[in-house]
Amino acid sequence: MAEKLNGNVTAFLNEPLAHYIGGKWLLSTDGAMDKVINPSDGTVIAQVAMASAHEVDAAANAAHEAFPAWAATPANQRSVLLHRLADSIEKHAGDLAQLESLDVGKAIVNSEAFDIPFGVEGIRYFADLALHAHYDIPLAVKHIEARIHRVPYGACGFIFPWNFPYDLLIWGIMPALAAGNTVVVKPSEVTPLSTLYVCKLAAEVGFPAGVINVVNGTGSQAGAMLTGHPLIKRMSFTGSPTVGKIIGETCGRNLVPCKLELGGKGAAVIFDDVDIDATAQQLAAAITLNTGQVCCTATRWIIHERIHDQLLSKAVEILKNTRIGPALDRNTQMGPLVSKVQLERVNRYVENGKKQGAVAILEPQTLRISGHEGGYYVSPSLLTGSSDNVCCREEIFGPSAYALKFRDEDSAIKQVNSLSYGLANSVWSRDLQRANRVAERMVAGNSWINAHNVFAYGLPYGGANLSGMGGGVNSPETFQDYLRSQTIARPLS
Ligand code: NAD
Repeated sequence: MAEKLNGNVTAFLNEPLAHYIGGKWLLSTDGAMDKVINPSDGTVIAQVAMASAHEVDAAANAAHEAFPAWAATPANQRSVLLHRLADSIEKHAGDLAQLESLDVGKAIVNSEAFDIPFGVEGIRYFADLALHAHYDIPLAVKHIEARIHRVPYGACGFIFPWNFPYDLLIWGIMPALAAGNTVVVKPSEVTPLSTLYVCKLAAEVGFPAGVINVVNGTGSQAGAMLTGHPLIKRMSFTGSPTVGKIIGETCGRNLVPCKLELGGKGAAVIFDDVDIDATAQQLAAAITLNTGQVCCTATRWIIHERIHDQLLSKAVEILKNTRIGPALDRNTQMGPLVSKVQLERVNRYVENGKKQGAVAILEPQTLRISGHEGGYYVSPSLLTGSSDNVCCREEIFGPSAYALKFRDEDSAIKQVNSLSYGLANSVWSRDLQRANRVAERMVAGNSWINAHNVFAYGLPYGGANLSGMGGGVNSPETFQDYLRSQTIARPLS
């Protein structure tokens, strides 16, 4: 049974969702609106305003004008506001969990246990980093009195995808705000709800007008305008490599520093000394988490030949028992895919993979769930076959993995590094010396040992090669990325 929506959530969704610009909720001047769809049943959740150049320009101007006062606000006062926002999100955690699940199709138990509290922790982490940062660093230089003065950039632009809209928002904008920058956010047009709700809470706890601005809209219009806007001093993009390259090109032309957090095709290398049942459990969980729509998750399982068949048959047994259902049902372990487009994409990939010779050890089924017939449900799948198959080489972004066999360590590493992606891989073995050696040799931003999807604040997370550039998220460096250095020097006579 899907749970009832909270009163706050219903009230929020009853009004048309507007842009948040310069402290005001504004609809588009041209009246453009779009529907937000519930992936659990295909119904309309809300109407959202879609930005034209006018709104993007107004938001960039608002952020630009609010910047000097926000930058001049002492760091501890900014941190106080960040903590008040975290307090308010904790108070409204139930509302945010419902909105996130409703919008993304994420199982409500996951939104409640992971997404919302992890975001709260992130806000507090960056608030505390701002308190303890050094903004003036004396330089030991002969005959010159000098220091590095660390200052924020100005108005920063952020564009986000639809798979973790709330957590990615927090990871993205909180370091920038804590460092004294103002922000303009364009959430994914598919999932704008939690971003707008966080914005509402930020306004209520007293963030000054113009410090946080949100424009809703498509990537090709609102996103492209934001990226190229002359008042934006720093850009951050999270999404696909295809769009990341477009953003990078625009920023390059304008000489605007840019952070790109992009897609992946993570590998898990599993040696023959692991606990097979426990490892199968964790690998299955990696592809059902958020219905497999996780950039860094383990979608290539590279398994030692001695345990290959045993591990896969265990994984199949576990995956077959996945409880698939509407996002707001407390029994649901895996919700629907986010959209019809995504459902078609996943099915198309599997079909093409099979045409190229892949064998489905576990065949995906498009499901019709009683009472939720319009939802975008697909069951998990496991494929195997040649390593040059499209399903082994490209990001499918659904609950699907591709299994390969290996005999020796070198060939496993070669397989991992055969793609241009470089986001996250894992190695599984009781031999920690071997695990660490393999972890070092896998080319990516993240190598995890005996686990996949390891996140904590203080643990830098970013991509290499096709998976991103420009610094990553969630670490002290992320905070420092939002401060630039200014050298102040006086020759001593
Ligand atoms: P996407 O690249 O299609 O869209 C991402 C965002 O970019 C959306 O807000 C979209 O409106 C906007 N956009 C699209 N075209 C644009 C343009 N020309 N100019 C400016 N903005 C534009 O990605 P998606 O389908 O929303 O998300 C899935 C992708 O995101 C996957 O590749 C996934 O791996 C990646 N992702 C990466 C991370 C990470 O941290 N590395 C995290 C989450 C998702």
